[in-house]
Amino acid sequence: MTTALLSDAAIDALHRTLALQRQAFQAAPFPSLADRRRDLKALRLALQRWQDPLARAMSEDFGRRSESECKMLDVLGPALQIDHALAHLRRWMRSERRGVDWMFLGNRARVVYQPKGVVGVIAAWNFPVVESVGPLVTAIAAGNRVMIKMSEFSPRCTEVLRRMLAEVFAADQVAVFDGGVEVGRAFAGLPLDHVVFTGSPAVGREIMRAASVNLTPVTLELGGKSPAIVGRSAAMGTVARSIAHGKLFNSGQACVAPDYALVPPERIAEFVAATVREFQRMVPDPVQDPHYTSMASERHADRVRELLVDAVAKGASVTSCGAGDGGRIIPLQIVTGVSPQMRIMQEELFNPILPVLACDSIDEAVAFVTARPRPLALYYYGNDSGEARRLTRDVPAGGMTINDWAWHVFQCDLPFGGSGNSGMGSWRGPEGFRALSHAKSVFTVRRWFPIHLFRPPYGSHIQQLIM
Ligand code: NAD
Repeated sequence: MTTALLSDAAIDALHRTLALQRQAFQAAPFPSLADRRRDLKALRLALQRWQDPLARAMSEDFGRRSESECKMLDVLGPALQIDHALAHLRRWMRSERRGVDWMFLGNRARVVYQPKGVVGVIAAWNFPVVESVGPLVTAIAAGNRVMIKMSEFSPRCTEVLRRMLAEVFAADQVAVFDGGVEVGRAFAGLPLDHVVFTGSPAVGREIMRAASVNLTPVTLELGGKSPAIVGRSAAMGTVARSIAHGKLFNSGQACVAPDYALVPPERIAEFVAATVREFQRMVPDPVQDPHYTSMASERHADRVRELLVDAVAKGASVTSCGAGDGGRIIPLQIVTGVSPQMRIMQEELFNPILPVLACDSIDEAVAFVTARPRPLALYYYGNDSGEARRLTRDVPAGGMTINDWAWHVFQCDLPFGGSGNSGMGSWRGPEGFRALSHAKSVFTVRRWFPIHLFRPPYGSHIQQLIM
């Protein structure tokens, strides 16, 4: 009963905030360049001021999360995005002159990028600031109001973020909500003007279904199994350093972490030995190292163990890159002898397990990856430009880094998003600005233009125009 009452109050607060923001938007539907820049600058200063409490809160939510990684990704990421928006906003906002069809020559056609209104943002728990403040930056740059629904797994971070954002924005411009699935459902069902969702493909489908009732457009940042393809020409030291880093960053709890590796069969032993070595060089003692992140909950840690038990029961071998604590600290687990029937190849991992599969050629790699749902990220290691070109052109994936992992995600001028099962749209860079704006076509008819020729009574000239 208490829970139901609480939820009713939470749901009521969502509706009241939407009404408040909508009213404020209608009163000021096109914030000036100066206003948007002022807000972005204030947000950047707030991120700087609040970086320590934010990092501490994120770490406490996880049990232990590397505070350096928190700052590097969750604070620096949105700060760089603000710098990029400040540098390009004038150009993004400018209306664009377009051509007119020959029979309308002399008139004026242009596209004006209008703010959409109230943008809803639903964040996951793994990079809670990037997934909330990132879309917020673009939404503010595009002149919108923003309602943010954080994950139930990041309560301390939500609280700090709420206080930080309240310093910069009034509730009729930006508001933060917590709550679990029930609040998420109510949020997705609001008649918002756009929803940006970060989370799993399964929940992404629910969000899209709920948004369709109001014809609310969606940007879906989802997950998937991102392959690391190791070519014969690759330098194994570079490959191992990169993949070990990709799996130890946030302990693999990253949507773009390499999910599995495809390695030439004769190089698998060398790959495993080098990856163990590189992991141990970066994290000699996972249990004691404050920069090695724990699984976000007991449930997530138990899932790692269940996946390994399933793989071993089906014939796989596991090489652990170090000692864990038997609880939520789990070092990288490299799995060989993998078959596609194992759960580790059926589910997105989102943890420090790395399945390694033998792959004899680039054709085999392309066939393997394209037979599966489209990944969010694709990694190629090697110096064969033909192979790199083949993967770039022929494998649909959200994005791609060649000879390392994830760096395409850090480039503010590149769109970041998925394809197919890994998502649609992007909230970042120029593409993000356009996604969170309405491209309004504006056609101005000159007074002298003989527009009456297109009205009845129609003359024979209509026929002549067609010829
Ligand atoms: P999730 O889908 O379970 O939850 C995401 C958010 O949706 C949370 O705020 C949650 O409260 C809310 N939610 C859950 N069920 C809902 C429902 N039925 N209706 C409305 N809202 C609901 O995902 P998660 O476990 O928080 O995050 C892990 C997933 O997110 C992975 O698949 C990962 O790859 C993906 N991810 C993607 C990106 C990206 O940028 N593409 C970034 C991080 C994580």
